[in-house]
Amino acid sequence: MFDMLRAGLFGRRHSMCGTQSHCNKCHQYTPLGNDSWCLGCTGVEALQGELAAPWRTPGFRAAANDLVVSAVRGVKALRDLSRSVYSAEQSRAATRQVSSKASSAPPSAPGTTEAIRPKLPAPPHPPPRRDVLSPDSQSGT
Ligand SMILES: [Zn+2]
Repeated sequence: MFDMLRAGLFGRRHSMCGTQSHCNKCHQYTPLGNDSWCLGCTGVEALQGELAAPWRTPGFRAAANDLVVSAVRGVKALRDLSRSVYSAEQSRAATRQVSSKASSAPPSAPGTTEAIRPKLPAPPHPPPRRDVLSPDSQSGT
């Protein structure tokens, strides 16, 4: 489908200088083949054209609206997820950096959390053990 879009409606954006590293519209994603736009940007432009075209049946146009809204929500959710994953990776890297600095420091250097933290109290002794008779041992007597 996208090959058809690229070859037909959007042929004017074909790059004359060969392979490009980034899309000319979003400046992020890699364009495919000789196109100067990525598939996402090509699809958005195709959607705008389709939504602006005359629709003979309002119900189908309403369904198209729902599809577009659903796609936008999905894309937004993916971007939010991407941001969360990136943030988690940054946090993990910062934690690794702190722990590697802490492991290279002397073990009980003043000012570290190990020197400040009080020792935990010893756990209480467990109650004396009672022998529990199992049903098997009771039936044998
Ligand atoms: Zn793009």
